[in-house]
Amino acid sequence: MTRSWRRLGRTVAAVAVALLLAPGAQAQFGALRLLGSIGRPAPASVQPTGAASGGDLLQLLSQSLDQIDEPKEIEIGRQLAAVLLGSKPLHGDMALQAYVNQLGRWISLHSTRPNLPWSFVVIDDSGYNAFAAPGGYVFVTKGLIDRVRDEAELAAILAHEITHVTSRHHLVALRAKAQAGVLTQLVGSQLRNNLGGWVSAQMLSLGRNLYSSGLNQQDEFDADRNGVELATRAGFDPYGLAAALQQLRTATPDDPLFALSLSTHPPAQQRLDRIEVAMGSRLDGFAGKPPVPLALRLAR
Ligand SMILES: [Zn+2]
Repeated sequence: MTRSWRRLGRTVAAVAVALLLAPGAQAQFGALRLLGSIGRPAPASVQPTGAASGGDLLQLLSQSLDQIDEPKEIEIGRQLAAVLLGSKPLHGDMALQAYVNQLGRWISLHSTRPNLPWSFVVIDDSGYNAFAAPGGYVFVTKGLIDRVRDEAELAAILAHEITHVTSRHHLVALRAKAQAGVLTQLVGSQLRNNLGGWVSAQMLSLGRNLYSSGLNQQDEFDADRNGVELATRAGFDPYGLAAALQQLRTATPDDPLFALSLSTHPPAQQRLDRIEVAMGSRLDGFAGKPPVPLALRLAR
C-alpha cells in the first residue's frame, strides 16, 4: 500500500504540476458550471413538487443513509450550495476560480469518489473559511486564499473538505437535525434564490443551522486524518494541514475573520495533536517539497 502510494505520489505530482501550470488544459470553469447547475431545476426524479416539497425533504432525510442514493445526495448538495451562495457571492476573479477548481478536482480524482460532479469555488468573503455540501460542492473564502502561505496548505484544506463529502458527513448531520425537529415549524414552501433556482424554506433553515453550528468533532478529526492521506496521495506535502492549523492555533477566538472557523471546529491544538499521532513519521518520505506560492500559479 505504502509503496504503491509512493509510486503514485511521484507520478501524480508530475502530472499535477503540468496540469496546474496549464490553466487552459481544462476549458470548463467549475464556478460557471456550478452556477449553471444550481440555477437549473432539479432532475425530474428528485424535483420537489408544490406544497409537498418540504415534506419530501423531511421524508428524504428521515430515510436511512443507504436509501439516499447518489442522485438524491447530489440534489441535496445542490440546494445547500444554493443556500450558501445565496448569502455570499462568488469571487469575480475567474483565473483564481479556475485554479482552485483545477486543484480541487485533481485532489478529488484521488478520493474514494472521483466520479462525483466536483466543483470548487471561491466565495467573496474576507473571513477564513471552507465549506462543503453533499455531492461534491466545495467552497473556500477569498479570506482563506489570501492567508494560505502555499499550495500545500490550500490542497490540505480542500482535501479535508473532500473527505467530509466522500464520508457523507453533512448528510449524517442533516439527518440528525431533521430528526431533532429543526424542520418541524416550517411548512414546505419554496423560496426563489438569487441564482434563479428554488430552495425550500426547510433547506434554507437546515443549511443555515448546519453551517453555523458545524459538524461533530469526530467527523472533523476524521476529515483531518483522511484529508492528510488524500492530499499526500495527490502529490502534496503531508504537512500542509499542520501548517494551516498553526495559523488557526494562533488566531484569537474573537478575531471576526477566524471566529466561524474556530467555533465550528475543535481547537486547532487538539487537531494538531491528533494528526501528529495519526501521521507519526509514516509520511515523512513525502515531506519537504519546495513550497509553491499561489501567486506563482496565478501569474500570467
Ligand atoms: Zn471540517
